[in-house]
Amino acid sequence: MSALSTNTLPDETEVLVVGGGPAGALLGCLLARRGVDVVVVEKQADLEREFRGESLAGPSVVTLGKLGFGPALREHGYLETSGINMRMEGRTVFQIDYRRFPLGALPIDIPQPALIGIFHAAAATFPNHAYVPGTAFSSLIEEDGEVRGAVLKRKDGSRAQIRARLVVGADGRFSKVRKAANLAADIQPMERDFLSFKLPRPAHWGDAAELVAVADKHVLVVPTFPDFLRIGHNLPKRGLGDLRAQGFEAFREGIAAIDPRLGPLMRENLNSWDDTSFLEIFTAQVPQWSRDGLVLIGDASHTCTPILGQGVNLAIQDVVCATPVIAQALAETKGSVPAARFADFEQTRRAHKTLVVKHQRMQERALAKTSAVALAVRRTRYRLLNSLPNKYRMLDKVINAQHSIDPVDLRAANQQAATVA
Ligand SMILES: Cc1cc2nc3c(=O)[nH]c(=O)nc-3n(C[C@H](O)[C@H](O)[C@H](O)COP(=O)(O)OP(=O)(O)OC[C@H]3O[C@@H](n4cnc5c(N)ncnc54)[C@H](O)[C@@H]3O)c2cc1C
Repeated sequence: MSALSTNTLPDETEVLVVGGGPAGALLGCLLARRGVDVVVVEKQADLEREFRGESLAGPSVVTLGKLGFGPALREHGYLETSGINMRMEGRTVFQIDYRRFPLGALPIDIPQPALIGIFHAAAATFPNHAYVPGTAFSSLIEEDGEVRGAVLKRKDGSRAQIRARLVVGADGRFSKVRKAANLAADIQPMERDFLSFKLPRPAHWGDAAELVAVADKHVLVVPTFPDFLRIGHNLPKRGLGDLRAQGFEAFREGIAAIDPRLGPLMRENLNSWDDTSFLEIFTAQVPQWSRDGLVLIGDASHTCTPILGQGVNLAIQDVVCATPVIAQALAETKGSVPAARFADFEQTRRAHKTLVVKHQRMQERALAKTSAVALAVRRTRYRLLNSLPNKYRMLDKVINAQHSIDPVDLRAANQQAATVA
């Protein structure tokens, strides 16, 4: 990872973004481009982070291209995913070739630290942008019922205060900003949890993702940049303890029973539980995303599941929609940005995220089937869907069109400082 220029914390700014994940890093960059004074604080000292999603959906690849990130993405390198194949109980039931969609871009795999680094590096060219890693949000500064800034804690334990006209909570699915703002979240655990790990990708492996299911157990195998396979495996809810009690060898054998190709790869490369990452899966719906002087975006505002790999895609769309709203509100109001300014943003983005969660739950329900009859029905359904003559037109609507961003929002998000005045 190339070194990032980082900055000291000023006493005040127009916008304080808490969290330098995909949502916070991109927002910092787009606001800085528009001439807004923005400070992004991130609790981690560097960009290396726990195992995270690396798949970027096709519509987001198009969006990032239009926002000018194409050359930096190509310079770093990524892996294009050509499609997805689904096998159930040993039979191929469904295939999508992403190259047949009219979108003009394939989904890509790129490590999340690299993606975030690209956003931060672009932002670092603006003197009105500061990125301050190793600095965690601690509490809000509130006056007269409005949010006016935040108290932060540095790695050395020292505290600092920063005043801002808007605090943006982009601090992920366990958002501390959300809690501090008393914005309640309805947390709904999914029926199953998730374990992920990486393996080296053999030379002959294709570039399509594969979902391999046997009854209610499955592995998702995604070719990942530069030369890995990223594997996701479902577990019963709170089933990690039981799995570990059975031993690591039993775990490897269980995965090989679902997809025998992974057996030898795991024996050579996966040696202990330390090589795996556990993810508790839940969704969080937040009835109110904003207060005077504060707004939530990304996972903090509405947490989806990793199913169908949509989190980064959704975070990017939140940012594209929020950027012009924030810039305009700063220009047209004084003091803390009023919550009312975010009413349309919240409504549009919530509707989209709710739809995505609905599709995720449908997919999860299909994957959790166990009885022989239910499995036969599942296979038949996917086969029927696969054989529909208008399959690509239909899927394009579900997969691509519903995720696309209004071109007006995109143009507005892409404005440079000179055109804002
Ligand atoms: C195992 C796994 C696999 C996934 N697979 C995919 C995938 O393939 N494709 C996809 O699109 N999505 C995937 N996702 C979801 C995706 O990673 C998230 O939806 C996305 O990262 C959300 O971006 P965000 O910026 O809102 O939040 P985050 O990425 O969670 O970023 C939040 C940031 O805030 C920082 N932070 C937290 N608390 C504080 C604090 N108090 N002070 C300062 N900073 C703080 C964190 O360190 C972090 O950097 C996956 C998630 C997981 C866990």
